[in-house]
Amino acid sequence: MLLNLARTIPRSAANGPGQRFVVWVQGCAIRCPGCWNPDTWDFETRQLRDTAALADEILDTSGIEGVTFTGGEPFHQAGALVDVASRVRAAGLSVFVFTGYELDELTRADHRELLALTDVLVSGRYVQALRAFDSEWRGSTNQRVHFLSARYTEVSMAGSPSVEFHLAPDGQLAVTGFPLPQLLDVVPAPKWPPQNEQ
Ligand code: SF4
Repeated sequence: MLLNLARTIPRSAANGPGQRFVVWVQGCAIRCPGCWNPDTWDFETRQLRDTAALADEILDTSGIEGVTFTGGEPFHQAGALVDVASRVRAAGLSVFVFTGYELDELTRADHRELLALTDVLVSGRYVQALRAFDSEWRGSTNQRVHFLSARYTEVSMAGSPSVEFHLAPDGQLAVTGFPLPQLLDVVPAPKWPPQNEQ
């Protein structure tokens, strides 16, 4: 199967508990005002990755405890992510998903399959006026953290950094996690590779 993704980072401590491989998928129809990753909204093909190859890359990454799917909207490509999630979970890694949908909006069969493979889900639209500053894995306070398996609890997820800096392959500095808006004005969210690069 193929997944249209925007970018990946092999190790991040600011996108879920522990060190995680992070996958930003490409395409989001929700388009929340103030979204930190508007370059991921477009549904044009950006990077098409074979899901088995992506799962192998994740499994070959040392020192991670799981994978995080973010975006873009992961549930627009739920079928492809089910394939990745089932492979990495079978190897003992955890799955953390950020979605702009509410849990009760995720009713399709492929949505349910991805939810069944998800340990923690953060759900709901990003609402700029409700910006969260509590570093509890959410961008705005209306969003909800759902523990869908027994693997994590609120306590076991505490203590992770809320912000992280990454150096892109081209030397560009980018910030990820849950930065203050003032920081995003100075250091952008990751945007590599450039849009439409294959
Ligand atoms: S759902 Fe997520 S990616 Fe989509 S617009 Fe909202 S914050 Fe951005």
